[in-house]
Amino acid sequence: MRLFKTEAIVLKSNLISETNKIATLFTKTHGKIQAVAKGARRSKSRFINAIRPFVVGNYLLFEGQNYYYIDQWDLIELHPNIETDLIKFSVASYFVETMNKILEEHEKSDNLYLLLKTSLKDVDQFQIDPLVFISSYNLKLMALLGYMPQLNNCVVCGRSENLKYFSSSCGGTLCTTCKDKCRDGVPINETSLKVMWYLLRVNFESLQNIKISSVIKKEVDKIITDYMKEHLGLEFASKSFIDKLKNI
Ligand SMILES: [Zn+2]
Repeated sequence: MRLFKTEAIVLKSNLISETNKIATLFTKTHGKIQAVAKGARRSKSRFINAIRPFVVGNYLLFEGQNYYYIDQWDLIELHPNIETDLIKFSVASYFVETMNKILEEHEKSDNLYLLLKTSLKDVDQFQIDPLVFISSYNLKLMALLGYMPQLNNCVVCGRSENLKYFSSSCGGTLCTTCKDKCRDGVPINETSLKVMWYLLRVNFESLQNIKISSVIKKEVDKIITDYMKEHLGLEFASKSFIDKLKNI
């Protein structure tokens, strides 16, 4: 039996038996793992918050035959505002769902861990337009996964003028001359390109007072969502709720 200590973020939790719960943890040292919290269903269990989604903690875990088991834990971040605000909750749910689907079991990544930890902390603390926040998160996520879209030059000829189309399959912008060279080139507003470049580079805190028209917000979201579908082959259930917020 091997014991180890690690910081981790709870991605989700489920019942595993009448008294026990199992949590999907994104750990710093062992990547994504399944960890059982014995007796966590009892109302007085010391593990109630240990397996609550979005919680960040320090965990002492031991490795069993099929699962890991939580032995002890200490809270680092509880994110109280996420639990009481439906929009914050939806955005946070999208963050943990994407990470859970993208990560393989035992897949470790310091960069993805830091992105998720920061995203949860910032959604809890700051008032940021949900679609803008998600677009910024998605762009940063894709960049960390090695799929950073090319936004400043044509993906075919390399020119930096007349970038008026975007192709998910070719990985970025197309100029007017090359617009038919990729199978899925779609028109893109010049402002959307600038917004995407900005959302990729700045930290989330800077997005608090940003004003983006709803036309541009929706175009940016659509371009990035299609881009993620093309490269990851994944769609995310919690995104459909956020899509409804577009009309607010
Ligand atoms: Zn070109």
